[in-house]
Amino acid sequence: FEAIAVLTSGGDSPGMNPAVRGVVRAALNQGIQVFGIQKGYSGLLAGDLRVMTSASVRNIVQRGGTILKSDRCEAFKQPEARAQAIQILKDNGIQGLVVIGGDGSLTGAHCLAEESDLAVIGLPGTIDNDIFGTEDTIGFDTAVNTALDAIDKIRDTASSHERHFLVEVMGRNSGFLATHVGIAAGAEMVVVPEYEVHIEQLGQQLSESRRSGKGSSGIIVVAEGRDPGLTYRLAEQLKQQGEDPRVCILGHIQRGGQPSGHDRVLASSLGAMAVSYMLAGYNDIMVGVADGAVVDIPLDSVIRYRKGLDPKLFELALLLHK
Ligand code: ADP
Repeated sequence: FEAIAVLTSGGDSPGMNPAVRGVVRAALNQGIQVFGIQKGYSGLLAGDLRVMTSASVRNIVQRGGTILKSDRCEAFKQPEARAQAIQILKDNGIQGLVVIGGDGSLTGAHCLAEESDLAVIGLPGTIDNDIFGTEDTIGFDTAVNTALDAIDKIRDTASSHERHFLVEVMGRNSGFLATHVGIAAGAEMVVVPEYEVHIEQLGQQLSESRRSGKGSSGIIVVAEGRDPGLTYRLAEQLKQQGEDPRVCILGHIQRGGQPSGHDRVLASSLGAMAVSYMLAGYNDIMVGVADGAVVDIPLDSVIRYRKGLDPKLFELALLLHK
């Protein structure tokens, strides 16, 4: 390999910067030139490629967001646009590409690998931890901690006013973030898209805990799921059952902030390993984590299968507040 490129795409996540740094420094150490593509696939189509030096990634290991910028690019779903992108990479003498992003971005990466002779390696960059084939994703740990920090504060108000709070966390269609946050925050209940909500039961449980003196204030963590109005509707239903809960949507604060130590180490090692796998001849794979070790998974499987929420973990979230 003489030259490779790296891009970040889709929703940003804390840790993308140390991942970019890992790719750039590992490649430069092998004498390989590195291009940083700006703004994901849109920047690639616009030919916005910049030569990266060791100094380009200095002082970014601790910074949230992505210095390469990120974007969503509808056009990239068309093969004609991808053919153009492949030509742009070739014209710049680029033989390999590392794509850091979520499910959608990795789908784009798989298409590029299939439609060209480029070596394409994906890295899971999302706060949702919803990528098949890896137990961890870059940004998940930081997002869990950000949500916990917020919930610990909300709990002060909940208990001062003896009131329940419904706190909505991100996670797209998956309940990973909500389940982890729920367990770590000691939530009274966790609502995730993978399991049906039994609102009457929830209402009874809250009233019961108020009556028994166990708690007149509590936190219910709700995953954003597929249904944007769910959290407010749950609050309405609880009101009809005699509760007076408040709603707090944590929103985009979960995507930002300094990456945690865990995410910095994860991102740095996945970034460097992406280059090692590429040099070892791997292509069309994602580099992720299984049983605590760095592993490769074909991108084909990554995008074909849905990662299931561990039922034991979800049960634990419900069990521990009883
Ligand atoms: P994320 O990567 O965080 O899941 P998106 O789902 O928005 O975010 O995807 C990011 C980008 O990846 C899209 O804007 C598009 O450019 C590309 N992409 C998504 N789906 C596909 C697809 N089916 N084929 C090719 N490219 C895709």
